[in-house]
Amino acid sequence: MTVLKDPTLFREAALVAGEWIETGEEAITVTDPATGAAIGRVPRIGAADVRRAIAVAAAAQREWASRTAKERSDVLRRWFELLQANKEDLGRILTLEQGKPLPEAIGEIGYGASFIEWFSEEARRVNGDIIPGHQPDKRILVFKQPVGVVAAITPWNFPNAMITRKAGPAFAAGCAMVLKPASQTPFSAIALAVLAERAGLPAGLFSVVTGSASEIGAELTANPTVRKLTFTGSTEIGVALYRQSAPTVKKLGLELGGNAPFIVFDDADIAAAVEGALIAKYRNNGQTCVCANRIYVQDGVYDAFAEKLAQAVSRLRTGNGFDEGVTLGPLIDAAALAKVEEHVSDAVSKGARILLGGKPHALGGTFYEPTILADVTKEMAVAREETFGPVAPLFRFADEADVIAQANDTEFGLASYFYAKDLSRVFRVAEALDYGMVGVNTGLISTAEAPFGGVKLSGLGREGSRYGIDEFLELKYVCLGGV
Ligand code: ADP
Repeated sequence: MTVLKDPTLFREAALVAGEWIETGEEAITVTDPATGAAIGRVPRIGAADVRRAIAVAAAAQREWASRTAKERSDVLRRWFELLQANKEDLGRILTLEQGKPLPEAIGEIGYGASFIEWFSEEARRVNGDIIPGHQPDKRILVFKQPVGVVAAITPWNFPNAMITRKAGPAFAAGCAMVLKPASQTPFSAIALAVLAERAGLPAGLFSVVTGSASEIGAELTANPTVRKLTFTGSTEIGVALYRQSAPTVKKLGLELGGNAPFIVFDDADIAAAVEGALIAKYRNNGQTCVCANRIYVQDGVYDAFAEKLAQAVSRLRTGNGFDEGVTLGPLIDAAALAKVEEHVSDAVSKGARILLGGKPHALGGTFYEPTILADVTKEMAVAREETFGPVAPLFRFADEADVIAQANDTEFGLASYFYAKDLSRVFRVAEALDYGMVGVNTGLISTAEAPFGGVKLSGLGREGSRYGIDEFLELKYVCLGGV
């Protein structure tokens, strides 16, 4: 167990309806993906406790919504400051359960905290509207009101930031939240709740329920008091939750899978493209939904790009995220490793060449070598499915229209990237890509200021930015007569 400056941030308990439920007999064991060792246990919360959390959240929400925006903003600001002040401990907890290198984990805490900061500011700018009436004695007023109780289900790849990106706008808007974190990474969620309490978030407004995803998910989606479900995870589960939410007609926010193209045109700055690919592909060991999944390189620069990328990737260091100088951690679990192995062997069997890596790492466990595949074609699984691992497949292309068609030939539409200098091309390609987000000459696009989200099977709604809070608000139209 890693040493924390404040050991109370690591709690083997769930926060249900304002009370901590300590881990008892019924528990889930959480392991360190780098070593396989057990790091702690969290309670298995059942449907009855989830129901109670929702009912108490509804009462807490009404009180919270009745406060001034400034009061809500102040609480969020304190939460942000506590996240910053405890950045190292939170990063340690994150590395311990998720595996990413400690500097990257601490970076995620800063990124996660930035959503609480941003929405503490946005809380005060939820302005309604007054519209000239349709008759002389009438005025049309538009109120913006919180949707009410929100359920959140979050993944393991960003155990902190995927929560704050939802909780920030929800609390800013005046909502309550019942959160089900990923079972692989509950301790980061619990630490967030410890600090939320300390910041003065009212009891019962924020519950963190750990346990069986299907049992908790069933209650969160069926319960009519929950008015919105916000989910980040796989498209498969997102679709199931969408279906489960239909009978109670919930508002939905879905951040689902991606299959991001990363295109390098002949006129690109190759050194910059290599640097961008390194970030877009290997960050979090390839386990992000905005990771470059297909790298298309134009004929004229293909060999030079491949060579420079191989040089850069060979400098990455795989290992335990707590070790100095490590840049790539383990994969989250055995299933993730199996998928990566499957994708690589499928590609090789269909003619791909391994430029680098291509096999499990000598460290064993779920470590996998950073890998580059050349001569990849659309017949291979890597072209259609998200690999979610440190594998860069290089496709060759000849012309712009063709690469745009290939890039768009997927059911997903989250992030996309391209490198080019020609200004007309930059506009043409940015407009033609069927994606919610486009990075031009950059491999890193996520930030609290910008709307994050996808189209097609990548999801519904946007998170972050000034638009993000709208997802947690309802418009109420009030017609004022007899003026
Ligand atoms: P990933 O591939 O990132 O693990 P999942 O969609 O399986 O994506 O998991 C994302 C989140 O959804 C996790 O918190 C997981 O526990 C939760 N989850 C998985 N299955 C269900 C389900 N049937 N109902 C509700 N939540 C689920």
